[in-house]
Parts: sequence; C-alpha cells; structure tokens
Amino acid sequence: MGKRIVIALGGNALGNNLPEQMIAVKQTAKAIVDLIQEGHEVIIAHGNGPQVGMIQKAMTELTRSDPEKYIPCPLSVCVAMSQGYIGYDLQNALREELLDRGINKGVATVLTQVEVDPEDKAFQNPTKPIGAFMTKEEADKMVAERGYNVIEDAGRGYRRVVASPKPQSIIEIQSIRDMVAAGLVVVACGGGGIPVYKTEGHHLKGAAAVIDKDFASCVLAQQVEADTLIILTAVEKVAINFGKPDEKWLDSLTPDEARKYIAEGHFAPGSMLPKVQAAVEFAESAPGRSALITLLEKAKDGVAGRTGTAIHQ
Ligand code: ADP
Ligand code: MG
Repeated sequence: MGKRIVIALGGNALGNNLPEQMIAVKQTAKAIVDLIQEGHEVIIAHGNGPQVGMIQKAMTELTRSDPEKYIPCPLSVCVAMSQGYIGYDLQNALREELLDRGINKGVATVLTQVEVDPEDKAFQNPTKPIGAFMTKEEADKMVAERGYNVIEDAGRGYRRVVASPKPQSIIEIQSIRDMVAAGLVVVACGGGGIPVYKTEGHHLKGAAAVIDKDFASCVLAQQVEADTLIILTAVEKVAINFGKPDEKWLDSLTPDEARKYIAEGHFAPGSMLPKVQAAVEFAESAPGRSALITLLEKAKDGVAGRTGTAIHQ
C-alpha cells in the first residue's frame, strides 16, 4: 500500500550553482518519481544553503552599487526568492520525468512561511554565517545602521551571523494539505521555510533567521500526517565513530539508541545531528511513524527496507 512520504532533499540533490542545479534536479526527479510510480504520495522539502547565499550576495552587491536607491534586502525575502528559484527547477524536472513515464500528476511549489518564537534562545546567540564577506568598515556600518550581528571569520573578513530558531508551525499548512489531497506533488518548506513571527493582529513579520531544513521537514511531516520522513543526503547510512577506524554504519536506530549516541557526540552539529534529531522526533510523534536517512539515489531501495538507516520505535 502506498505511503505518505515527506522527502527532505539535501545539498547534493540541488548542486551549488545554476548549471549544477539544472543537472542535479534531473537525478533528483528520477529518485522522487520512482517513489510516486510505486504508489506513494510524496511531499518535498529541501535545503537552500548555496542558493540563498548566492541571492543574498547579489542583493548585497546591489545595495553596494547604489545605497541611496537599494536598501538591504531582508533575509526573509532572500529565502522566499530561493524557494521560488529552486521550486521552479524542481517543478520543471518533476513535470518532465512524470510525463516521460506517462504519469499525469501536477506539481506545485508553495512559498512557505514557518513560524518561529521571537523568544527562542537562538536569537540571543546567532551562530549561522550568511552571505558575502564584508570589510571592517562595511561590517561596522551594518552593525550601526541595521543592527546586524557580525563575526570575524578566520581572517577572511567579516560575515553576518543569524539565529537558527526551531520551527513552531507552518503558516500555509492547510493549503499544503488541500493540494496533497487533490493529488498534487507539493514542494514546500524550502530552505526550512521563510521564518516569520506573529506581531499584532494577524500580521506576520519576517525574522532575520534561517530555519534548519531537517527540523522544518519534521514539522511538515507531522502536520501532513505522513507515514515516513525520508532525509536524503550525501551518505547512505548514519554511522557511529564516523570517519574513525572503528566506524560502524547503522541499519536501524531506536530513539533511545539515538539519544545515547547523540550524548556521546557521534553526530556532527549542523550536519548529521539535526537529521538524527528530526528523525527521532518524527518517529516518536505517533505510533507507526518511521524515518529514514539515506542517499538520494538509494531512496527507492531505502523505502523497500534494503538500505539506509531506519529510525523507529
Ligand atoms: P545536507 O546538505 O544533506 O543537509 P550535510 O552536509 O548537512 O548534508 O549533512 C550530511 C553529512 O553529515 C554527511 O555527508 C557526512 O559527511 C556528515 N556526517 C557527520 N556525522 C556523521 C555520522 N555520524 N554519520 C554519517 N554522516 C555524518
Ligand atoms: Mg545540512
């Protein structure tokens, strides 16, 4: 029987620049349509590190070229642009692959806002570097005029750092559910979503933050009542003692085992750690739910239980 699957695409599914992305999405579309062909319902989330970096750099250069005319572009707007650009390529690649296999299914991207808590502790300690390098003068100006947090990055110049708060809820969730119910392949929560917080009334304000796509995908998977959360990345399985002589690749992982390994420091913060944490949270969110961490090209084998690391109770 077909499952409802949320797929979180990692950096390797999209490449690092425009031509790379154009090529990468073809392979990505094949892996996704393999699952659709088997009767699964698929909802796609994705990262946006290189893409939002490129857009933010371009917007910074625009401001530099004529500061009177072009005020700095908010990060939330840059994330929205990256969702549009990536969604455009994914929609096209998926459309083509579906049509090539004779499957008549629409694909749609939802510009997705994700609510964060303005009191999230992450806002007191911004750690995620974003965008172009700046000179000391430029950095001082941004601190004074825009209230940016900046760090000196290993002698290479100054960079803005932003917070990475936890996603609370997905603003467009009902639209996403309706589109899934209508049989569409939905792309949502790109780059972890456009971070927003509620102010007075119904107003939403963009936050100067980036949300981890693994955590956002976990919230998405819960809120669309998925059976499975698949995190596709650059390794086939999760390892303990990763990169060491006694490295051990794991076929499955229970939440309790995962917590033990997390405490022992087996998973790198910012890369494998959020994936394992998201997988555990999803697996524990309701009976019968499971998560899978594997390589993009192994998605089909992974769903069939032949490879990857499965996380379930
Ligand atoms: P993505 O773009 O898919 O989010 P990341 O680079 O953020 O990818 O995270 C995946 C990477 O995490 C892997 O390519 C691997 O190098 C690294 N990694 C860190 N710790 C582990 C571990 N314990 N087991 C497997 N991979 C790990
Ligand atoms: Mg990552």
